[in-house]
Amino acid sequence: MSWMEFKKNEILTVTIEDIGNDGEGIGKIDGFTLFVKDAVIGDVVSVKIMKAKKQYAYAKLEKVLTPSPFRVEPKCAFHRQCGGCQIQTMSYERQLQFKENKIKRNLLHIGKFDQAVIERIMEPIVGMEEAFHYRNKAQYPVGTDREGKPIVGFYAGRTHTIIENNECFLGAPENKRILETILEYMKQQRVSAYQEETGEGLIRHILIRTGFSSKQIMVCIVINGQKMRNGNFLPQEGMLIDALKRIENMTSISVCINRERTNVIMGKEVHTLWGKDTITDNICIREGEDFRRTGKEIQYKISPLSFYQVNPVQTEKLYSIALDYAGLTGEETVWDLYCGIGTISLFLAQKAKKVYGVEVVPQAIADAKENAANNGINNVEFFVGKAEEVLPDLYEREGVYADVIVVDPPRKGCDAVCLETMLRMKPKRIVYVSCDSATLARDLKVLCDGGYELVRGRGVDQFGQTVHVEVIIMMQYCGKEKN
Ligand code: SAH
Repeated sequence: MSWMEFKKNEILTVTIEDIGNDGEGIGKIDGFTLFVKDAVIGDVVSVKIMKAKKQYAYAKLEKVLTPSPFRVEPKCAFHRQCGGCQIQTMSYERQLQFKENKIKRNLLHIGKFDQAVIERIMEPIVGMEEAFHYRNKAQYPVGTDREGKPIVGFYAGRTHTIIENNECFLGAPENKRILETILEYMKQQRVSAYQEETGEGLIRHILIRTGFSSKQIMVCIVINGQKMRNGNFLPQEGMLIDALKRIENMTSISVCINRERTNVIMGKEVHTLWGKDTITDNICIREGEDFRRTGKEIQYKISPLSFYQVNPVQTEKLYSIALDYAGLTGEETVWDLYCGIGTISLFLAQKAKKVYGVEVVPQAIADAKENAANNGINNVEFFVGKAEEVLPDLYEREGVYADVIVVDPPRKGCDAVCLETMLRMKPKRIVYVSCDSATLARDLKVLCDGGYELVRGRGVDQFGQTVHVEVIIMMQYCGKEKN
């Protein structure tokens, strides 16, 4: 124990020397650590202590005294309240460096890999050409302000209070006009917004999806109601449709019924009010250092409820790297575990003999099959079920084989049984696509203790302004097991 202890509400000056995994600034005062959200590495800031422990404290940024050379003007006035963009005040270059370091730090500390191995295998992170306006999907909650006027916005970090804002800079620029059109209609026709506390009111959320290569726009209004006596779902429905369909590239207008009192956004039932039921988007393989689009375009149909990658430009790069790492010659049997709607599977199928996909959500597999058929790809087969159940089962009963296994699990990583089965199947190569480098590092340790070695790796930024980063690692079988 030292003489020094932080006290709540105390104001201090500190230099920010590091960045935590959640993007927070980290500074030290006499060996004690301060975590300061919204402070940028290199800033000298004045902070207020919010929560003090013996060795460290959480502090709130009060004032930037000397700005860091990495500090930039934020685009969005709400970046501190929203919490969606944790590092918007950091230059994009520095964001990429932070993400690259985070991956390496996790491989070192959690994976226990040698620094020299990590430096050797990791290729430079792939950044975005445009670090804003990259999301093809936006979901805005609808509520009312103090005067009862309808508003759209976002939930203030970790709360359910809606802060009014109809322009999120991560989304498509057209979203603003769509939101304004719906709000105007609500005001004119006195259509109520849903109130979470009472469960009353009609309009809950607005979902907008845009096909980046097709330009098609889909609007889906989530409502707390049913068909009315006149067969419509919304009062003066025709007026809203007329206004929305005038927006360029509008392709699909629908409602989704959600009458449950939960914070799940979408319901199960969708009714198209105007236009098509789905929009399409195309993605294709990219090659070379500059990631030129070279492959055949694969078309995806997207409905309001289907899963689709939110940053299609970077997804093309990410999955093209995965394909490159898989090293296919046309002779291989490949398993794509956690395959979703088969985005990676359909990339792989263009260069493999046969691809098998495994995914737990039945609707995603239905979409995957339809996407394969629509694109004339017939060397793929999909299984519904948990990877850790389907794979061992098929291995034991039928002795299934893989030259290459690709995995793209959710944040919690692969199940232990799944990893164990992969080790028993001994594919020549394993390609691991991950959205959480901590669980990735944990799983790589298991695979490398079981006879694999790291060969190549690369970060790909799918989510500029946020602390998230995707990583791809390629391993090959070397037979050196550690006990
Ligand atoms: N590559 C996919 C997305 C992968 S996201 C695509 O581009 O579409 C991770 C996927 O793993 C999700 O679709 C999720 O539903 C699925 N999943 C989660 N747990 C699983 C499990 N235990 N077994 C198989 N799939 C699982």
